[in-house]
Amino acid sequence: MAEAAGDSAQHGDIDVAIVGAGIIGIAAASFLQDEGRDVLLIDRGEPAQGASFGNAGAFAFSDILPLASPRIMRKAPRWLIDPLGPLSIPPAYLPEILPWLIRFWRASWPDRVRGAMVAQAALMRLASREMAALVAAAGLDGMVRSDGSLELYEREAELTAAMPGWDARAQEGIAFQHVRGAAMADLQPGLSPRFVAGTFVPGWKTVSDPYDFARALAARLVRRGGRIARHEVAAIRPVAGGVALDCRDGSSIMARQAVIACGAWSRSLARALGDDVPLETERGYNTTLPPGAFDIRRQLIFGGHGFVITPLSSGIRVGGAVELGGLARGPNFARSEAMLRKAAGFLPGLKTDGGRQWMGFRPSLPDSLPVIGASRASADIVYAFGHGHLGLTQSAATGRLVADLVAGRAPVLDIARFSPQRF
Ligand SMILES: Cc1cc2nc3c(=O)[nH]c(=O)nc-3n(C[C@H](O)[C@H](O)[C@H](O)COP(=O)(O)OP(=O)(O)OC[C@H]3O[C@@H](n4cnc5c(N)ncnc54)[C@H](O)[C@@H]3O)c2cc1C
Repeated sequence: MAEAAGDSAQHGDIDVAIVGAGIIGIAAASFLQDEGRDVLLIDRGEPAQGASFGNAGAFAFSDILPLASPRIMRKAPRWLIDPLGPLSIPPAYLPEILPWLIRFWRASWPDRVRGAMVAQAALMRLASREMAALVAAAGLDGMVRSDGSLELYEREAELTAAMPGWDARAQEGIAFQHVRGAAMADLQPGLSPRFVAGTFVPGWKTVSDPYDFARALAARLVRRGGRIARHEVAAIRPVAGGVALDCRDGSSIMARQAVIACGAWSRSLARALGDDVPLETERGYNTTLPPGAFDIRRQLIFGGHGFVITPLSSGIRVGGAVELGGLARGPNFARSEAMLRKAAGFLPGLKTDGGRQWMGFRPSLPDSLPVIGASRASADIVYAFGHGHLGLTQSAATGRLVADLVAGRAPVLDIARFSPQRF
């Protein structure tokens, strides 16, 4: 699908260059195309090989609570003791990530949690609308399952502790239903009896496979005249009449406007433009078992253990976890194995053989909100990164907002909370 690397001449006159062909860059390019813009999507590799490749595939529209919260701060010490638990920090990385952790702690103060949640809820309403429109326009309805999610609790106390979060969602108009006994077993037969209650969220959706979904959108982009090129962009600069993109291969691409959507790798490009955004990565792990490993009826969420199980066309995906370990160190697949062992206990009969392991880099800000806005250096350079656990869910909404910013219109949503300059 991608063109070979080359110099700027091969791209002619570029209207909008989008750097990063993950789900965010692909969605942004799609919305720009809808407005008649000529787009060049640039990636150092093939499209959707980053976090967008192997995620859990959820349109998690009800996931409006920021990760940083008083509840997580209470749980964190216990989680951190277990090196293979839901949250971990390799000790050698601690000094580097300390400033981010301090911001994360400040983001957990109740007034900040409330502000982040309201902003996230507004973005999720837009996400739900725009994703439905994008899926319909692209003819991808067959790739979306609308059977909701089931979050599971091992103790009544766990559900009680989760209630303030559910009350907050109710205030934002999100539908859900707490279930027990036969109602829970109907939603997912074969669960271990250790689960005493669950919460069913009907508006939650999943894609058949996140990579297939992103690839289908990228293929549509090309069918509609968009171009995809392979370059690693080293720097982006405002120049007279537009923007210059300097590539590692020595070439330079000139465009009228540019979008930076490099996921977890966006920080250095933004910093060179004067925006020191505290972007970190929450590394996540999973194992995709062959289809038929278990009859999973909908996405299952084990919040107390930090992982989910998703039924995909490509198999049964078991994964999640947060490892605050940076971009450089190699994966520790003992994490995938630890989640798989737990999953086997939660779903007796789960066939755990023949799985494929994967690690991905979630691009994460301390307040769990993305960065969507113009750079300090130029209104012609727009950022769209930092979606953490929610990039697939929020991709269409981000595309809509990026199209507004690139056109110089007031965005459909107040984006002050997503400003790159908010830190
Ligand atoms: C285990 C796990 C489960 C998840 N589950 C879900 C889920 O169920 N639902 C959900 O909504 N989200 C989920 N997420 C989060 C989601 O995957 C991310 O938020 C999303 O994929 C981010 O998309 P992106 O396009 O910003 O980044 P990426 O997909 O990482 O894409 C960034 C792209 O930029 C390119 N790039 C980087 N630097 C350069 C450069 N200098 N020059 C050129 N190209 C460059 C990379 O090659 C890459 O292709 C999950 C993440 C993980 C890890």
